[in-house]
Amino acid sequence: GREWHLAARPQGWPVPADFALVEAPVRQPGPGEITVRNAYLSVDPYMRGRMNDVKSYVPPYALGAPMDGGAVGYVVASAAEGFAVGDAVLHGLGWREYATLDAAHAVKVDPELAPLSAYLGVLGMPGLTAYAGLLEVASFKEGDTVFVSGAAGAVGSLVGQIARLKGAKRVVGSAGSAEKVATLVEEYGFDAAFDYKAGPVAEQLAAAAPEGIDVYFDNVGGEHLEAAIGALNVHGRVTLCGAIAQYNDTSAPAGPRNLALAIGKRLRLQGMIVGDHAALRGQFAAEVGGWLRSGELRSDETVVEGVENAADAFIGMLRGANTGKMVVAV
Ligand code: NDP
Repeated sequence: GREWHLAARPQGWPVPADFALVEAPVRQPGPGEITVRNAYLSVDPYMRGRMNDVKSYVPPYALGAPMDGGAVGYVVASAAEGFAVGDAVLHGLGWREYATLDAAHAVKVDPELAPLSAYLGVLGMPGLTAYAGLLEVASFKEGDTVFVSGAAGAVGSLVGQIARLKGAKRVVGSAGSAEKVATLVEEYGFDAAFDYKAGPVAEQLAAAAPEGIDVYFDNVGGEHLEAAIGALNVHGRVTLCGAIAQYNDTSAPAGPRNLALAIGKRLRLQGMIVGDHAALRGQFAAEVGGWLRSGELRSDETVVEGVENAADAFIGMLRGANTGKMVVAV
């Protein structure tokens, strides 16, 4: 089967030559192991950090070795109790066609309940990030005005919709094109949205939320975070989820320059890592699954066909080529 290796560590924006598609033998499962034919691979922003040789909450990818990440697929060989050929599973050995792994590191998923790719997006890691980040980290409460950046992406599109379903007073989003802005308002039910490339974020946010905001869910950092600090009301809360505007920067960002405002406004800014919120998984799956079935919540995917296009899909996601979750159909 084919698998992606890290060929070089990017300086700034990743380029196709940083990745190499390599043919590798498919290993037969040993005791307790399964072999999975991957159906969908996840490409996620955090993988950009793993391409750098720096210590973080996930170890860096090794040069010349296979990359990993979320994947869903079907068991094609099993030497593990409780796993049969044909079972659908979610696991961590993405970026490849076939994966042989300890079955303890795979979770069975139900392809009848939702399309398999949903377990990489709305019903998976990004979905839980949105749910936990809004409800637990930002302590969202009914009547809050919520602003989310990266609002047309996997996490952001769910943050806005969960806020609406949970009784937000007003939901505002920003995204990188007029088309995405239209989707936020027309498909996801945001009250207002703007294109951050069309003008200063602070000005557009002030117009979209004239009475200020109570919660900011930050996927972007930099200018967005500075604008949100300016717009936040007293006792406002910020979930620091991501800072994608700076993942490819080679020098430290300039802002936010107005952080001292957080003192007088008694703001709470809290970082999050989704892995800390596993205890919410059951409640999340039940509630978000229910909204999906009732049609109250929309989840889009951008599907790139072919394992050979996974690197392009990843780079495309960093540039905003996706609406909703970006996945690769193997
Ligand atoms: P998305 O589906 O949102 O895809 C990334 C999007 O980022 C692109 O579509 C693009 O949309 C936007 N983007 C790229 N560059 C910029 C920029 N300079 N300024 C503003 N937007 C930009 O990805 P995810 O939903 O998977 O992730 C969203 C964020 O959440 C990321 O920051 C990620 O790192 C973080 N995250 C954090 C987790 C945690 O545990 N802390 C877990 C999961 C995700 P556009 O066209 O609008 O520019």
